[in-house]
Order: sequence, then C-alpha cells, then structure tokens
Amino acid sequence: MLFDYHIHALAHGEYDYSPEWIGRFLQNARKLGLQEIGFTEHDEYRELADNDILDGIQEQFAELPIRKGLEVDFIPGREQAIKKFLASDNYDYVIGSIHFINGWGFDHPDFRNGFETGDIDDIYSAYFNLVKQAAESELFDVVGHIDLIKIWGHRPSKHNISFYLEPVLRCIKAKGLVIEINSGGIRKPVGEIYPAPEIIDMMLRLDIPITFGSDAHHPDQVGEGLEQAAQMAFKAGYRKAVRFKNHRQILTPI
Ligand SMILES: [Zn+2]
Ligand SMILES: [Zn+2]
Repeated sequence: MLFDYHIHALAHGEYDYSPEWIGRFLQNARKLGLQEIGFTEHDEYRELADNDILDGIQEQFAELPIRKGLEVDFIPGREQAIKKFLASDNYDYVIGSIHFINGWGFDHPDFRNGFETGDIDDIYSAYFNLVKQAAESELFDVVGHIDLIKIWGHRPSKHNISFYLEPVLRCIKAKGLVIEINSGGIRKPVGEIYPAPEIIDMMLRLDIPITFGSDAHHPDQVGEGLEQAAQMAFKAGYRKAVRFKNHRQILTPI
C-alpha cells in the first residue's frame, strides 16, 4: 500500500488553496493508485489552508481518504506558540521539522554558503541536537526528513552518521514518534531519500515506526519517488508503515 503523507498544496505561498488546485493533487494521486493522502502545509501558511475544502472534496474522491496534517518548524522557544495553534485545529498528524539552526535557513539555496564558513561537524551536531529537542518536546507525531542536513551533499568528517543519530533515535523511540521516509531528497542536490539506508537500518533495530511522504510542492510531484522509498524500507526489513487518524497510529502493510 502506497500513501503520501507530506504534501504542500500552497508550496511557499505561491498557490491558492482552492478546490480546483487541491483536486489536481488528488487526481494525480488517483492516477498513481495511491491509497491515502495527507496535506501538510508549512505552519506559517496554516491560516491560508482551509481544511473545510478537504472535507468538501472528499466525496468526489471517496476511494482516497484525505488526512489533515501540518509541517511545523521546530525552533527552541517556540514550544508554547506551537502548542497553542495545534490545539485550535484538529489535525490527524503533525510533522516536526528542522529548517533553521540558530536562525540560519540551511536548506534554502540563498543561505547554502553557511556550509562553507562553518565547521561541518559542529553543524551536524547542532542540527541533530535540534531534532532531539523536537522529539523531546512531545509536540509532534512524525519527525520530518530526519537527515535534511545532507541536502547539499555535505557529510560529517570527524564521526560517522550513527554517532549523530544514535542518541536522537533513542529519544524518538522513547517518545513513541514515527519517522518519515521522505523521497523529496531525490529532487535535491544530494539526490537521496531522507533518511539514508544506514539510518533506516538503525531505526529498524530500535523498532521505530515509519511513514511515507514525497514533500510535493506541486501536483506533478505527488507520490514522486515513493515507490523507491517503499522498496528501500522493505529492503531494510520494514513490512509495515503508519497512517494516522486523529493522531492515532494505524499500522499498514507496505
Ligand atoms: Zn520540510
Ligand atoms: Zn515539507
């Protein structure tokens, strides 16, 4: 069963959240035979995303359950504000992601040169510390693109990746979170799924559940790379993935 749980219909605010536009995502999902879909706008655009539109369009796509999600920027100090806006909406699941390290938008092309000026191992440490804090915050259901820090192809030099991941994954396991296999990295310079196969192996050893997302920012990207993501998880030994309803984890064969 293939489903796509990481979709930005609004992208970065350049599109309207209309039934016609949402319908294009759903039509493409239907063409691909996806069995469920979840919309997860970036939290800064959440007020532009009218969840009633999803309810309204559901009957035209009865075979394709639509879930309501959100991708939230975890930034230390923002916890109370996040808690407040999450409480006022009824999401099925919330993805917590790190896109900023001390205000540095490291995944944005305009700020990529920060990797040239900083020490790569310090950058990796700072990034994974934030992922750990996000997991500890108990605000989220899913950890988004856990090794996003590799986006431009930079790798740590002093330690291998398990050095950074081990404490983070233990915390994720203790908090009962799910990690997404995010195929969006295939479109980026790194050209890889998040997370890397060795991290997926570590996740499986700890019995951490997974979910799937394409990180589509356009209807043409719905489901992109998910077949590959599912194969990768299967090859690692995963046989089940998690869907959500009202924050409840539903295990599904892959
Ligand atoms: Zn993201
Ligand atoms: Zn995203």
